[in-house]
Amino acid sequence: PHLKASTSLSFSLSLQAKMSRPVQARRLEGIDKNIWVELVKLAATYSKVNLGQGFPDFPAPAFLTEAFTRALGGGNHMLHQYTRAFGHPPLVKVLAQFFEKLLGRDVDPMTNVMVTVGAYQALFCCFQALVDEGDEVIIIEPFFDCYEPMVKMAGGTPVFVPLRPNPPKDGKLMSSADWQLDPAELASKFSERTKAIVLNSPNNPLGKVFSRGELGLIAELCVKHDVLCISDEVYEWLVYDGKQHIRIASLQGMWDRTVIVGSAGKTFSATGWKVGWVVGPDRLLQHLRTVHQNSVYHCATIAQEAVAQGFQRELMLYGKPESYFVQLPKELQQKRDWLVQRLDSVGMKPIIPEGTYFLVADISQFKSDVPDVPNSDEPYDHRFIKWMVKNKGLAAIPLSAFYSKAHKNNYTNFIRFCFAKEEATLKAANDILQKWKQEKTSS
Ligand code: PMP
Repeated sequence: PHLKASTSLSFSLSLQAKMSRPVQARRLEGIDKNIWVELVKLAATYSKVNLGQGFPDFPAPAFLTEAFTRALGGGNHMLHQYTRAFGHPPLVKVLAQFFEKLLGRDVDPMTNVMVTVGAYQALFCCFQALVDEGDEVIIIEPFFDCYEPMVKMAGGTPVFVPLRPNPPKDGKLMSSADWQLDPAELASKFSERTKAIVLNSPNNPLGKVFSRGELGLIAELCVKHDVLCISDEVYEWLVYDGKQHIRIASLQGMWDRTVIVGSAGKTFSATGWKVGWVVGPDRLLQHLRTVHQNSVYHCATIAQEAVAQGFQRELMLYGKPESYFVQLPKELQQKRDWLVQRLDSVGMKPIIPEGTYFLVADISQFKSDVPDVPNSDEPYDHRFIKWMVKNKGLAAIPLSAFYSKAHKNNYTNFIRFCFAKEEATLKAANDILQKWKQEKTSS
């Protein structure tokens, strides 16, 4: 009230002037646009049936939700407080026991395991802790999209190497196993600048489960060039047709250079809980602990307690028919087979996935409904998805969203469906596709 008008005017001008300073940190340059934001919003606005984002719409198993309820109201009020930063002791202990079994080696709960806020934060810790300015990180395409921005935020340079499709000659449907690395091309990406390779098996979006031979090739190159391996194995239990998920950390020379990333969200069909973990040697994990300690500190105690109980149950039932890790893939395989058959019947040729929640399908026969716009920046499959969501009410994800900018336009004839859905959801999707097909044939 004591300021004269002119003084207060110049005061407010100077306040405004200060706001012209750039606010965005340089590390965010080029990664601020994200196609997922648009696709998720589009699906929420228009879709009647959503086979887009990767999460189940069926309930998590009762033993898990009951464990959560017990943890919440069971009288141990300390479960509402902070727990150990690097993982709630019961959870790291049971994870260590489980991974000892899976890897056939000693795993120390305190130094070889860390609990994270979902696999997302596990990945973030890996890149922040292990990648320096100027380091190269090899990423196999198509890839879970956050790898690229996470490498860049750490100051690293992503180097892409594609899985190349080799369609079977006998006219059979393609399988995710038909998408393979070219060994010479892969080897050519390794150099003294390479710090790490990201491996995702079973792979999102293709559902490819890397074979022992393919993993052996990657392992050999990692050892030869002293390269680390960030092994995203969130779909480790979702492997079909009796195939085996092989952990690259169990191959010769790999334990000491591998961080295994896992997710309770995918493992127990509870993606909203955001409990994940890393398993690996202390020489790597000690640096991940520094990032974790100084960023999120730890993830919800009650969720960790419930996941620990889930794993204790699974440890007891390991390999038995009642095990969730035996039942879930069985159920999902049936859903996969059903959707494969339905997609094939309308001519949206599916690539049969060997694992994961996902199935990629070829949209070539549906292209006449959604004309291309030549010289557009937008990949064709993006436009196709937008059209399909708006006009048919069915949401899926364009495959090009899983490719780097330079390679996006080589893969625009495919879309990804998530089949970890209730029967009713899958049937509703099928109804839309069958009707669409009929309209096409009658027009
Ligand atoms: N890695 C891959 C390959 C994924 O598909 C996902 C989830 N879509 C994650 C990591 C992230 O897992 P979480 O939900 O546990 O953070």
